[in-house]
Amino acid sequence: MQAESAAVRGRLSVVATPIGNLGDLSARARDVLAVCDLVAAEDTRHTRTLLQHFGIDKPLVSLHDHNERDRADELVQRMLAGAHVALVSDAGTPAISDPGYWLVRAASQAGIDVTAVPGACAAIAALSVAGLPTDRFCFEGFLPQQAAARRARLATLAQEPRTLIFYEAPHRIRDCLDACAEGFGGARAAVLAREITKHFETIYRGTLDELRERAAQDKDVERGEIVLIIAGAPEPVPGQEGNEALDRVLNILLPEMPLKQAAHLAARLVGCRDNEAYKRALQLKKD
Ligand code: SAM
Repeated sequence: MQAESAAVRGRLSVVATPIGNLGDLSARARDVLAVCDLVAAEDTRHTRTLLQHFGIDKPLVSLHDHNERDRADELVQRMLAGAHVALVSDAGTPAISDPGYWLVRAASQAGIDVTAVPGACAAIAALSVAGLPTDRFCFEGFLPQQAAARRARLATLAQEPRTLIFYEAPHRIRDCLDACAEGFGGARAAVLAREITKHFETIYRGTLDELRERAAQDKDVERGEIVLIIAGAPEPVPGQEGNEALDRVLNILLPEMPLKQAAHLAARLVGCRDNEAYKRALQLKKD
């Protein structure tokens, strides 16, 4: 076990904070936050409130999506001069769909020790209670907000056999469920985990179609913070691997663009030849 002491200096600690329940801040995270020289925080006001709750008073600097690259250089200089910086985000694990990547990269490139102080992460918490396969999974973060870009991203994932994990904003969850059902088929098993570790924590399980129905009837589904977990694609039947994937992608792309362009894009996504995709597109159009 590594002891935390004020004597250990010139390093970066990447500190996970709670995703709702303050009891989830680890004892080690508290120790690190108490001994570091400064805390780099996504939102300094938010983090000040957290630190105050634990009786910790530290200088804070902001590090968010809009200043991270410049701030990373400044912080690296301070760490090279001996400072122990603790990086936190508003909730959960820094750098996971949150700022932190550039600072971690810059610090490690500068030869500074980077230490993880692990804790809550919404993706892993949701996966752990989903009841879907956990042996292999694929974290996709937030889907693109724009409908066509989201559809294209989902098309690339339609044949992914690993369990898929998405973050989604509550006001977009219904559109997201619709798009996922269109991209993966409404019969695919899924789990919507909302408000994990909080008072209104709820886990909805069913097929994508069932979750869409539930969301249409129950406003609570689109309240609070949400992780959407979707079962991976069924293993392909030997001999039919390419066709099923190609049909699925073409069925998504054909209504959106000219046939030739859809065939070309589908061929690239599925990994088959252009003329095979073109022939199949003609067939589907005719059917
Ligand atoms: N770095 C964070 C982590 O480790 O989980 C994720 C930050 S990302 C900006 C915020 C998203 O995480 C939310 O939009 C939601 O999808 C998910 N999230 C965060 N807290 C959650 C919670 N308590 N319950 C469900 N989802 C949560």
